[in-house]
Amino acid sequence: MSDLGDLQSLASSITAVTSPFRNYLNDLHEKYQSLNDGAIANYIPELELAKPEWFGICVVTNDGQIFEVGECDQLFTIQSISKAFIFGLALEDYGREYVNSKVSVEPTGEAFNSIVLDEATNRPYNPMVNAGAIATADLIKGKNGTERLKRVLAMFKRYTGRDHDINVPVFLSEKSTGNRNRAMTYLMLNFGMVSEKIDETLDLYFQQCSIMVNARDLAMLSATLANGGINPVTKERAIDERYVQDVVTVMLTCGMYDASGEWAYRIGMPAKSGVGGGIAAVAPGKLGIGTFSPLLDAKGNSVRGIKVCEDLSKDFGLHLFNVAQPEKNLQEWIEGGSVDDW
Ligand code: GLN
Repeated sequence: MSDLGDLQSLASSITAVTSPFRNYLNDLHEKYQSLNDGAIANYIPELELAKPEWFGICVVTNDGQIFEVGECDQLFTIQSISKAFIFGLALEDYGREYVNSKVSVEPTGEAFNSIVLDEATNRPYNPMVNAGAIATADLIKGKNGTERLKRVLAMFKRYTGRDHDINVPVFLSEKSTGNRNRAMTYLMLNFGMVSEKIDETLDLYFQQCSIMVNARDLAMLSATLANGGINPVTKERAIDERYVQDVVTVMLTCGMYDASGEWAYRIGMPAKSGVGGGIAAVAPGKLGIGTFSPLLDAKGNSVRGIKVCEDLSKDFGLHLFNVAQPEKNLQEWIEGGSVDDW
């Protein structure tokens, strides 16, 4: 390379290192690292192994830039975040009308594991609560459990651009302690909302919850939805464009458990959280956010993750219904690019 070329690449990497958005994320990380409110999920022993200080923030823009700070390589189980993406796959497998005949899209205002079905139709309320997620998992096509799981893992790979493993001890624990989920599945069988292959479907549900991801994967999942279903880095399509809107709408209305209304009001980004400590949040047409911090509030949402999303939403005007001039212009702050290697 010529001297001039060297100089040019040095100059561009310096701009990248000092990208204002990167500095902004560093400040955000520092600001909330000391926030120790909340508790690590303990309904199975494996989740308690998480460390309270773990904290990662990753943002992936629609043009494929990756910004990350903190523990973005630390793996954890995706848990309920999987529900949004399985809903997308079920829509691809069966279409809107049929899926909607088995699961409604109405927020419950109740805890994610409540055993409640719509009284008029006997459908579970929405695909983001356990009952609805199990009914949705039931719809995933494949000739047996192994094939269905393979399809699920292949789907996640399309979104994140890499292979994912199941955390087997978490899966086995979920399975051996999952009687509440089993009970609601039998109730749904009684009403014809799920098929007879209950054990296979519950295994698939416990397995999808046990998929291991990191904060960067969550940002990729979100960014892919923000980008109309195409991963902005690999350029691979992860979900049929027609169904992106369905997935993000249900995330907005039901994605944050029984705090979904407040989340939509204050933060206004379609998002999904999981008891492993992850949050995936989508700013349609702009970017995807992935946060990881295992300290959860009483409703099961990551305390630091909520704060990070709230600040990003306010500062950059990412609330879906925001029409006011944001304090910070996203494009200007992002200019300079990211230094992270893919
Ligand atoms: N595996 C969990 C369950 O089925 C899902 C928990 C979650 O993230 N809300 O109870």
